[in-house]
Amino acid sequence: MGTSTDAEPDPIVGTFARWIKTLKETAARVDGEHDVQVLEQELRDGGRAILQSLFEQLLQGIIDSGQESLRTCPDCGGRRCHQGVRERRLGTCFGSLALKGIYWKCPDCPSRQNSVDQVGQEEFTLLMKDLVLLAGVSSTSFDKGQVVCRHLLGVDVDDEAIRLRCLREGYKPRPLPAKIVEQGHDLIGSCDGTMVNTREDRWRELKAMRFEHEKGVYGEAYLEKTGSFSPRLKQVAEKLGQAHAGRCVFVSDCAVWIDKAVAKQLPKFRHVADYFHAAQHVHRAAEEVYGSEHPDAGKWSRSISRRLREYGAARLVDKLRRLTLYYADLKHQRAVLDLCRYLNKHASKMDYGRFQREQIPIDSGGMESFCKQLGLRMKGPGMRWSKHNVSAMANLVCRWATDPHHAFTTPVAA
Ligand SMILES: [Zn+2]
Repeated sequence: MGTSTDAEPDPIVGTFARWIKTLKETAARVDGEHDVQVLEQELRDGGRAILQSLFEQLLQGIIDSGQESLRTCPDCGGRRCHQGVRERRLGTCFGSLALKGIYWKCPDCPSRQNSVDQVGQEEFTLLMKDLVLLAGVSSTSFDKGQVVCRHLLGVDVDDEAIRLRCLREGYKPRPLPAKIVEQGHDLIGSCDGTMVNTREDRWRELKAMRFEHEKGVYGEAYLEKTGSFSPRLKQVAEKLGQAHAGRCVFVSDCAVWIDKAVAKQLPKFRHVADYFHAAQHVHRAAEEVYGSEHPDAGKWSRSISRRLREYGAARLVDKLRRLTLYYADLKHQRAVLDLCRYLNKHASKMDYGRFQREQIPIDSGGMESFCKQLGLRMKGPGMRWSKHNVSAMANLVCRWATDPHHAFTTPVAA
């Protein structure tokens, strides 16, 4: 079946010819845009259905011709028994195919195989698997992914099948980064957290890291304790080639756990405090001194932040301490002294004037956008995740967020 000779044309050619005839009849009646829409729809759905049955024939032909060669057991070399013909469905980008294959069973060892395995071992072809992943990750939810498959591909894929496919892929070890840092070039890292709603424990922190260099961006994210997450920073930096990188810089909000993790796991990295985060601390002090509604709060905070950016924390703290003497109210003095204490603690990471002269990044805008993308997919309205699925799905989103063109494309040999 499925093969044809030059003498007798394949029946599918007849089907195709009849279909073109009806299309031409439809085209002859076209009167306006709406009719063109109907024609386009017919062309798309009809063409897909013909390609679907052609693909089914082609694959069935491959299965049938390779059937007997599977009788010999690949594990023990024995003669496997024919256990009857079984049908299996294979999801493709033309729709689901029904394929029939002999079920082989070895009497001497546990070897079992359906002949259909020759063309596909899982429920989707590799090409369709990539498209399903794309639909599951790029949509706001799995049921929206189902709608996307229906409308963009013209194929029905159940939202539960999309969910399972995504999670199965997410559980696999991460593929190596497509690009590593070039000899002597900068490697810039960052990490942050975003909250995800879990069924078991409500809101929990998803920890994310992101590294970039001239040739690419790479990120990972996990729902786990600091002790498990921190060593990953080192592993990823090594995978990305920190050993031969030039300058290594890590930008963060300097949360206590991040401070510790960077000091321990990334000794080669210069730790920089995210400038915008530092400026928020300045703004909070301004609100304490002037009141949040007062226009002077904004003026003061802008002026202090600008100096922080120009001179760095160490010089700014000297100025601020002298300034506190002019505040009559003790509460105001305390607010500014608290700010001084914070700036002083991280002064070496806030040498912003120098960083800018050396063209070292002082904010982690890329990380912020990365976390927003994680948030968009991981915390849609009413969305709750089983705790053990969060990291799997988050890592798929990381692939999509950092390298959308290559995230889910199985390389095809030219
Ligand atoms: Zn065997």
